[in-house]
Amino acid sequence: MHRGLQTEIQRISLLTLFLLIFGFLNGHLLLTLLIGGGLYMLWTFSHIAKLYDWLDQGCAGLPPEASGVWGDMTDYLYRMQQRNDRAKQSRRNLSERVRNITSALADGVLTLSPDRVLEWWNPASIKLLGLKKSDRGQSIINLVRDPRFVAFIQSDSFSTPLELTSPEDPTKTLLFSAAEFGEGDIILVVQDITRLRNLEQMRQDFVANISHELRTPLTVLSGYTETLIDSADDLPKGWEKALDQMQQQTDRMSALANDLVMLSQLESTRTPPPSTPVDTTSLLQQIAEDAKVIAKENNDTENNDIITIDCSDDIMINGDTKELYSAFSNLVFNAIKHNPPGTEIQIKSYTDKKANVIEISDNGNGIDPKHIPRLTERFYRVDHSRATTTGGTGLGLAIVKHVLMRHGGSLKIFSTLSKGSTFICHFPKPKPKT
Ligand code: ADP
Repeated sequence: MHRGLQTEIQRISLLTLFLLIFGFLNGHLLLTLLIGGGLYMLWTFSHIAKLYDWLDQGCAGLPPEASGVWGDMTDYLYRMQQRNDRAKQSRRNLSERVRNITSALADGVLTLSPDRVLEWWNPASIKLLGLKKSDRGQSIINLVRDPRFVAFIQSDSFSTPLELTSPEDPTKTLLFSAAEFGEGDIILVVQDITRLRNLEQMRQDFVANISHELRTPLTVLSGYTETLIDSADDLPKGWEKALDQMQQQTDRMSALANDLVMLSQLESTRTPPPSTPVDTTSLLQQIAEDAKVIAKENNDTENNDIITIDCSDDIMINGDTKELYSAFSNLVFNAIKHNPPGTEIQIKSYTDKKANVIEISDNGNGIDPKHIPRLTERFYRVDHSRATTTGGTGLGLAIVKHVLMRHGGSLKIFSTLSKGSTFICHFPKPKPKT
């Protein structure tokens, strides 16, 4: 039992005993009990009144003096009040700290309600997105109107951040990342990545320029080597092998320079390829013919049936013929380069429910599954030691990936060791004209 309650019971018992004895002595027991009980109630009400006063004043200052149950109750209320004050203060300190941290951030931080209404933002967001006080309560879609941003912020998952030119300053590039918190609220983080993009651009320009500059001296070197090989009979003995190797290496370097120039162009061109309809059937037929010539040269095979082509659906892809030729020919030439002579290669084009598909498969060596996720990385090769013999640059599949991306497509690779590989290019079907 609480101490206050014990004291109160003792007090009432003593008071009753005292009133009983006093009532017997003065001969007015009932009256004495009534007066005593009334006085006790008055005393109790005075405590209640003091407590109400203190509560009405918002528990300011010390609680009223009391003993017994009332002392216990006021103490209890006072302690609760103190705890509450401390919690409030620590919440205030925390929110002040969060405000200071977000104010110091160079990145913009914004919170949106589940229906994408702007609730709060830090000072950096004002600079990056040009927000005003009156924008609070507005839908973010009315403030950043780029259709790519609208699609990004309205999507359910924000797994891929979005890169956009700043709506405030077209020289700046912004990166938007978002995440859900609480009950569907959204935190949006805006980073200024202009410097990073400029550095990336410098790297791309450097690679593109140096590869471009290398092409002319390599052409001269290759030309002279060829002339020397043609007149090898007039040269001292032993020069033939050296000249052959010189030409092989010059050809490799030229291929590398050409692939680097192509990759840099694909990476740096932000505009989509021209949307001219490309007849993939005749493009694939031309690639198959070119591949047969290469197969003959490389593998000394006379068998022209190793490359079969089946374009049951005549597929037109909106895009750039040169880029598409480069992508498909890389896949077909790879099937020749990286497999033993006589490997059968199938080129197919068809439409399925969702996409236009170009499929290139072979029954060659296959690729260990552990390499597949990295095959489209630049300079990634399964077998580095064979790079010299195959003449590969390690850039072929990176070029394929970029071309497909620029055409809204994607590449899937399936392969089983000793059974062969299949490279599938999916392209979005053109929307029917309304
Ligand atoms: P490379 O210039 O070496 O051909 P790619 O990027 O085109 O570079 O290909 C990367 C690697 O993938 C190649 O080095 C090769 O090991 C492997 N590869 C690509 N296509 C095939 C294929 N059809 N069969 C077996 N291996 C392949």
